[in-house]
Amino acid sequence: MSTTALSEYVCEDCGTLLRHSNPNTLESMRDVHNQLCVVKRQKTAAAAATVPKPAPAAAAPRAAPSTAPAAATPAMEAPPAPPSAGGSTTISLSGTGTSYGKVEGPIDAKFKESRKMAGTYEGIKVWGPVDAPGQLGIWGDSVCVDFDICVADGACIEACPVNVYEWLQTPGHPASEKKAFMIREKDCIFCIACENVCPPQAVKIFTKG
Ligand code: SF4
Repeated sequence: MSTTALSEYVCEDCGTLLRHSNPNTLESMRDVHNQLCVVKRQKTAAAAATVPKPAPAAAAPRAAPSTAPAAATPAMEAPPAPPSAGGSTTISLSGTGTSYGKVEGPIDAKFKESRKMAGTYEGIKVWGPVDAPGQLGIWGDSVCVDFDICVADGACIEACPVNVYEWLQTPGHPASEKKAFMIREKDCIFCIACENVCPPQAVKIFTKG
């Protein structure tokens, strides 16, 4: 056997010349090169991309051949924008609205039909009109409190079994200078306890569905 046959090796893909006096070493060098050769890899990848994938090996049990084209994957579409109606504005609790008096309850259960969103506060919807600090509107989407009616009695906070509310300071408001803020509105289990215990009936719970 000739040892000179392996004394040189020229890569047929990239043209790299490998030389070594020891044929075993040269063979190892050739193997390593063939594994790392960028041109060879590109050719292999291109060939794989053009060759259709073979049908899967006979799988048991045999499925009925499908002549219908595979259902096309629907193109990804951007989700529809949420209704805005001024909802992106962050509500401020201070301002020049100081000429307001206390509002009597109960909360208007149909306020979503008559009011527009004025913005949000820490992610909670606020329904206008809002003219802080004296007029703050109705807060919440499913756990709703009319801040202009709320007198900070606190019965709702005590009644809530899942700690939906926390106090929010509202200095300058004519009914009370703190409000039951439904910061954990998403935790509500719709027990209606808060709605039932509120003395001025400032709370309205909208159950899901
Ligand atoms: S309905 Fe029940 S769970 Fe929801 S905020 Fe009121 S008291 Fe809490």
